[in-house]
Amino acid sequence: MREIEMVDLKAQYLKIGSEIDKAIQSVLDSTAFIKGPDVRLFEEELQVHMGVSHVISCANGTDALQLALMVLGLKPGDEVITTNFTFIATAEVVALLGLKLVLVDPDPGNFNISVEAVRKAITSKTRAIVPVHLFGQCADMERLMEIAKNHNLFIIEDAAQATGADYFFSDGTTKKAGTIGHIGTTSFFPSKNLGCYGDGGALYTNDETFAKKLRSIANHGMKEKYHYDNIGVNSRLDTIQAAILRVKLKYLSQFNSSRNNVAEQYDKAFAECPFLTVPERVSYSSHIFHQYTIRVNNGKRDELKKFLESKKIPSMVYYPGPLHLQNVYSFLNYKESDFPVTTTLCSEVLSLPMHPEMEKEQVDYIIRQILEFFNK
Ligand SMILES: *Cc1c(COP(=O)(O)O)cnc(C)c1O
Repeated sequence: MREIEMVDLKAQYLKIGSEIDKAIQSVLDSTAFIKGPDVRLFEEELQVHMGVSHVISCANGTDALQLALMVLGLKPGDEVITTNFTFIATAEVVALLGLKLVLVDPDPGNFNISVEAVRKAITSKTRAIVPVHLFGQCADMERLMEIAKNHNLFIIEDAAQATGADYFFSDGTTKKAGTIGHIGTTSFFPSKNLGCYGDGGALYTNDETFAKKLRSIANHGMKEKYHYDNIGVNSRLDTIQAAILRVKLKYLSQFNSSRNNVAEQYDKAFAECPFLTVPERVSYSSHIFHQYTIRVNNGKRDELKKFLESKKIPSMVYYPGPLHLQNVYSFLNYKESDFPVTTTLCSEVLSLPMHPEMEKEQVDYIIRQILEFFNK
């Protein structure tokens, strides 16, 4: 049996390496390393895949979030609501831009931002909500959009973990994660469902004014060569990364469905185990299992993690600490007990190996070891 990895980038490279090598070589031959033709072509292809009017590529997913917030024209002190249970980047950009970070608890079942908690956190200074489609399943966008409309707020979707997930509206229409709010952002970090071989990111929007300004801000605020309209940043997707992403985009749906096969095997095997909860599936979203995250409810999460390690099975805690307890955010003056759901999740969650290259033998072995741990 192959060694088990959380994400097996090597096995994936072995599968599609010849196409990747060719794509990289063509960029080397052209030496168009910045803003080469592959960047535009990748944006166009992703735009079609996502069914959105504009895709603006940038240097990474954190920059995408920052650019999205920059384009809204917010003022220092304006409040931005996001979930306490996410990767640090989502919160970091809010603080970095001098905006007031307002954290709320997630829903304990599906890990995504709680709509009720958002409702309670809105004040006269609230300007934007940043839902995160955590672990590959969409937040409750229909209800969030309704709140945003009623309170005149912007919604920036952090879709870094949900590239390719579908959102199902109650009227029967479907949209891709990241294309529902005013702006959506994503990351092409190597381990993401659509990952490149370095850093990369993108923004989605159906608003032409936002699109134009985002494109400018991501390129030093440039209007035309050496004429500047906005204070910008240098955040571009490298041509080599774009060329790699063009190859990998073709496989995205297939890879996401392979992840679902693994998830179904896990779900079935763990259904009867009283000590763990499998990830909840919501009716309004597909799940692309960026992570397969269980909750261990008998206080033995860390023990299970160690046991798996001893059996050469990696696992990860996403996320071990709530954001409000990080030193950096002590200035927000939250009390330790302010976010009971986040705090509980941080002590119970465990993400299991999950990637499109997993072999049945590996999945069976992981399942056997986990059930054996709980039956001891
Ligand atoms: C990965 C990730 C990001 C940041 O992406 P980078 O490309 O690493 O900057 C932001 N938000 C979430 C939820 C992520 O998982």
